[in-house]
Amino acid sequence: MCNDCSGDNQGEGGGESRRGFLRLGLMGAGAIAVSALGGAARADECMAFGADAQGAITPDQAVAKLMEGNARFLAGQSLHCDLLAQAEAVAEKQTPFACVLGCMDSRAAPELIFDQQIGDIFVSRVAGNLATPEIIGSFEYGTKVAGAKAIVVLGHSHCGAIKGAIDKADVGANLTALLDEIEPVVLAVHHEGERSSKNHELVEAVAEANARDAAAKLVAASPVLAERVAAGELVVVAAIYDIDTGAVRLLA
Ligand SMILES: [Zn+2]
Repeated sequence: MCNDCSGDNQGEGGGESRRGFLRLGLMGAGAIAVSALGGAARADECMAFGADAQGAITPDQAVAKLMEGNARFLAGQSLHCDLLAQAEAVAEKQTPFACVLGCMDSRAAPELIFDQQIGDIFVSRVAGNLATPEIIGSFEYGTKVAGAKAIVVLGHSHCGAIKGAIDKADVGANLTALLDEIEPVVLAVHHEGERSSKNHELVEAVAEANARDAAAKLVAASPVLAERVAAGELVVVAAIYDIDTGAVRLLA
């Protein structure tokens, strides 16, 4: 079976590579140039993340793999794998290596900014990247049942949910209740100057604190996750995605 970029599910070796290259040729010179940049290493990166790879990767390596993907994204060298071939490869079983808790913001799509493919990561998204009971339960599944080795809570710059929480926006019962969940974080952030969403430094400080808070809540609220962290089978980290630059920064 083949899971590489060529998209063919039969055969191995050069013939298949040639077919894949020819098909890339039909997509235009830009696609050919991207293919030439990566060579065989890119074909390996496009292989579906299987059970053996999941079993071998460590929690720290799982985080590093995400950051390597962000480096590709930043360099304009995202993999552009054959997603349909990957869908077929993981149709019977998924073995992702990581979970990401992100904001719903349209500019902060984890699969794109971490350059990950079908079957690679579990992603839960909600405005303000909050660790709700539903999301905690989802990650218990993703880690204990499905075997993912890392959880990254991904806050981001220019976050509307953070701004709304700072301004105590009244936007209807449901959304206001969501923003209220962030209020304790807002109150805990000590920052000189104007306490409004117009204060960019305050917005970014609260976004960082909120991501750290969610990461801590995931472990504090879940004996399942806490047990795996204590056993060295899982790492939970917070990070910030800079919308202006495309860079993800892990928070200490
Ligand atoms: Zn946001």
